[in-house]
Formats: sequence, structure tokens, C-alpha cells
Amino acid sequence: MKQCIECGNVKPYEQFSKDKTKKDGLQSKCKQCKHHYYTQNKERYIEYQIQFQQSHNHKWGSGVYGYLNLNTNQYDYIGTSKILKYRQYQHNKKYNNHRFEIIESCSIKNLFEREAYWIKHYKPINNTKHNPNNIEVRRQRV
Ligand SMILES: [Zn+2]
Repeated sequence: MKQCIECGNVKPYEQFSKDKTKKDGLQSKCKQCKHHYYTQNKERYIEYQIQFQQSHNHKWGSGVYGYLNLNTNQYDYIGTSKILKYRQYQHNKKYNNHRFEIIESCSIKNLFEREAYWIKHYKPINNTKHNPNNIEVRRQRV
């Protein structure tokens, strides 16, 4: 048994995650407290992002973007970003013959819904080549 430094409860060892840096090889907070901490932080993080968006020009905010192929004048890829300006910066370093375009600015909450809409609308090659009905929910990226 081991006492959690957060809630003070004495709990069986399996209620603590492993941590090699600790003397007894276990974390000092029980799994329940760790989980609580994580979910609280997640909410705080999302709130922070929304505040960030509201206090900046919308181009810094979230939305749906596309890589416009300058040869075909069609979008080759459509994706979402929580910080469009950052995605644009990454894009400009990598792609020739493509232009990064913001298709729509929208709130973080609506990102995937709007992405699915535009993918259906434009059917970009790189979104649809593996799955013609691609409206998969991808892992949220920065
Ligand atoms: Zn605890």
C-alpha cells in the first residue's frame, strides 16, 4: 500500500502508475488524481486557445485550409488547423506549385464538420485517394 500525496488516501500499488525516476518506482499521485489533473488541464488548454483566437486577427485562429495546385487550379489537400498562420508557415517551407489558402475561418468546435463539408465539396486527391468517401475524423493537429 502507498499513500497518495494529492488526495492522501492509502491505496494498493496498482492504483499508482510506474515512474522509474521515483525511489519506489511509482508515481506519487494515484491514477485517479492524475486523471483528474489531466482532464482539468485539457479544459484549461481549450479555453486558452479560444481566448487566444478572440484576441487576435482571425487569420491566427482556426479554420479549414487547402493546398491549391497551381497547375490544375484544384485543391490537392484540405485540412484543418487550430492556428492557421502556423500551418501556413510550415506549408511555405515545403511545397512548390501549391498555394496555401484559407477556405474558411471557423471555431475549433466546428473544425471537423467544416472540413468534412469542404472535402465533400472539392474532393481533393490527397484526401480521397485512400478512401473515396473520406470523412474520417483525424487526430486533431495544431
Ligand atoms: Zn490520489
